[in-house]
Amino acid sequence: MALPQFQAAPQFEEYVNATDLSAAVAALADGQGTPVAGGTDLWVQKELPGAVAGDRLVNIKNVPELKGIAAADGRIRIGALVTMTEILGDGRLKDAAPILAIAADRFASVQIRNAATIGGNVANASPAADMMPPLLCADAAVELAREEGGAISTREVTLSEFFTGPGRSVRESNELVAAVIVPIQPGRYAGFCKSGPRPALEIARVSMAITGEAAGGKLTNPRIAFGAVAPTPIRCTQTEALIDGKPLDDELIARALETMDGEISPIADHRASEWYRRHLARTYLEQELRHVRDG
Ligand SMILES: Cc1cc2nc3c(=O)[nH]c(=O)nc-3n(C[C@H](O)[C@H](O)[C@H](O)COP(=O)(O)OP(=O)(O)OC[C@H]3O[C@@H](n4cnc5c(N)ncnc54)[C@H](O)[C@@H]3O)c2cc1C
Repeated sequence: MALPQFQAAPQFEEYVNATDLSAAVAALADGQGTPVAGGTDLWVQKELPGAVAGDRLVNIKNVPELKGIAAADGRIRIGALVTMTEILGDGRLKDAAPILAIAADRFASVQIRNAATIGGNVANASPAADMMPPLLCADAAVELAREEGGAISTREVTLSEFFTGPGRSVRESNELVAAVIVPIQPGRYAGFCKSGPRPALEIARVSMAITGEAAGGKLTNPRIAFGAVAPTPIRCTQTEALIDGKPLDDELIARALETMDGEISPIADHRASEWYRRHLARTYLEQELRHVRDG
């Protein structure tokens, strides 16, 4: 019997241990560097064609500018190296954007949470990345950094414009995700649902986050975002507009489910059929809207 053919794991030819941001962006400047943070995705994917940007492995784990959570001017800056465990434990973040801690609590295992970074979750650009629906609901932006004329240059891209396809984003190969920025929005309703064969240690078949100002059976200024139902994590903006500030009676909930169904485009794969993904998405949205309505 013929054995399956595996590609040999690419051998990195060069290793850079960056100890500040200048060194990190300099090592990526020619587009031939592959950053590594927690390594929880990269070590699994590095044998897949196209997963490695270049043959220079750039360790960014020791870059102080990419660490820590800081609040200023009504926004919270979450450094790219902040781990899921740190998100779970940060009191300011719990107040400012509780949806993030709720989702981090469903992320993998304690061991993976200790290593997995928010920057890696964003940069990996998986349609199923767990933190993306919550970050879309939190109106997050991504801060990108690169070397330009010997200095560090940064730009900010809203998360809703960041992803361009499975594993693809507007991030150039010479850019690092430096931080994720979320506006401080305390007191908003926050719901997160995720389906996998196991509660947390699993790639989601479907995940959904929902936020908004909940009162009197209505959800005002809502955000509804899904993972694993389209080529990128998506917000359902038509569904949001439909329910914004209106009484969530049975008829409106039914129309919301229909509208959402038209906004998603799930695929069938070994994890779930298209029908099952649509069924999960409808179930989660209905459950959350009823929860808001019934207090
Ligand atoms: C057992 C297991 C369970 C998992 N469970 C979950 C889960 O429940 N939910 C979930 O969403 N994911 C899960 N994952 C996937 C993974 O843990 C996350 O995507 C994690 O956030 C990746 O972060 P990292 O720091 O480990 O990234 P790395 O593996 O270091 O990097 C991932 C990719 O992003 C690039 N990269 C990393 N940091 C940056 C940066 N700052 N700027 C630019 N590029 C960068 C790397 O070059 C690489 O291509 C799981 C993985 C494993 C192994």
